[in-house]
Amino acid sequence: METRNTASGNVFKERYYRYHIDVRDASWKIRLPKKFRVKIYNNCVNIQECVQACVYNVHRVGEDSRLAEPLEELCRGCHRCTLVCPKGAICIELNPEFQKLGDSYFTPERIENLFFEAETGRIPVSGAGYGGDFAGRGFNGFWFDFSEIVRPTRDGIHGREYISTTVDLGRKPHSLVFRGSQLVSEFPRLIELPIPIILDSPLYSSSGRNLSLVLARTANKLGTLSIIEAEDYFDGLKPYIFNLMPRIRPNGMMDYPQLIKYSRIVELDYREEMISEDEMKADLRYVRELNPSIIVCARFSSVNGMVCNAEIAVRSGVDIIHIHVDDRSVKHDPDIIVDTIRRVHSHLVENRIRDEVSLVSSGGIAEAAHVPKSIILGADAVAIGLVYQIVLGCRVCYGDRHRDDCPMNVEEADIGIASQRIVNLISSWRDQLLEVLGGMGLREVRRLRGELGRAIFYRELEEKVFGDSE
Ligand SMILES: [Zn+2]
Repeated sequence: METRNTASGNVFKERYYRYHIDVRDASWKIRLPKKFRVKIYNNCVNIQECVQACVYNVHRVGEDSRLAEPLEELCRGCHRCTLVCPKGAICIELNPEFQKLGDSYFTPERIENLFFEAETGRIPVSGAGYGGDFAGRGFNGFWFDFSEIVRPTRDGIHGREYISTTVDLGRKPHSLVFRGSQLVSEFPRLIELPIPIILDSPLYSSSGRNLSLVLARTANKLGTLSIIEAEDYFDGLKPYIFNLMPRIRPNGMMDYPQLIKYSRIVELDYREEMISEDEMKADLRYVRELNPSIIVCARFSSVNGMVCNAEIAVRSGVDIIHIHVDDRSVKHDPDIIVDTIRRVHSHLVENRIRDEVSLVSSGGIAEAAHVPKSIILGADAVAIGLVYQIVLGCRVCYGDRHRDDCPMNVEEADIGIASQRIVNLISSWRDQLLEVLGGMGLREVRRLRGELGRAIFYRELEEKVFGDSE
């Protein structure tokens, strides 16, 4: 029986290992405004048909056996009660406070779902059928294609069949070279993560070290990685070093030799549009002299230079490429993230260097479906950022820091519950990933990478159907 090290540092016996996420109720001090307002007018004659009709228990009978105040937070807006009331005494309307949440990208409905996932760890049920857009831009511009079934669907979510969500991040050499029985080529540098989701570093906030602790603990519980700005590192994070990925600007590397020495992975943050191969090679040399076994991820955030820089990174010997498009740009142009992942992935494939590195993408991730969609476009894994801050109370901030009036504030007392909320969110997203994989009959998420045939693109469909007509 083979034993292996997981990312959380546990040694497990291969045959018996099944990844499990511990989900627990995690209500939070910050609550969302109720979605609906339920009003009962004075012409109510108290015959209480609504109590019978409502399956969500919004209407109930009080101690005086009269109709009590409706529990608005339970209302799902099905309008059964308004239909059965013979007096037309009930009115349900959308709460304007709820409508004001978020923006055109992080919509109130998306925020509501994120809160539900973080609180319960369950999958939000939309009711009858698919409630989202059937065409749109960015991640809304394509859907999963479950028609290409090569074998029956799998039941991943209830665990009757095991579907693996494990990914390997790092560099794989083209081939292994042996001299006699001695391996002479470079040993593959890989990190195995049980889920294709890592945590990106948060925007600057007043929560400071508490939030860093929350993220480190969460990454440890999930067996994944948390990206942390090198300057935010402090000794309290030491127990979690195995799950941390310090992010360092290459020209500031000299300030963090110890951190580089003791980390197993580091992210070099290149923000320029053009980076030369010589520069990158020199940066890698510096890092590997301090720590020869370290895995190096290069993060790029200039969309224009992305394809070029990705190729240079592979040729320079980087292990992982992180393509990051900031959320504000995605909000303005949702296609930008979809096009960027597709372009980088296909460029590396065309140049036959795709399999030498892993690709992580981030930006515009706002719901569970965006994880498998990013993977279909060519990413090995995604880094989530704003979504986990939203479930901690952020009302959608962009840029480098949270707005001064942002309600997100993680205090020392909240650390456990804040971490549980992110754990729940990711558990729910993993279950939704399993649903997608199960529906496609896939046994592991690795098989989904770059499988564009598993998606239907609205733009392409439209061209096919209406291509010739004006
Ligand atoms: Zn915020």
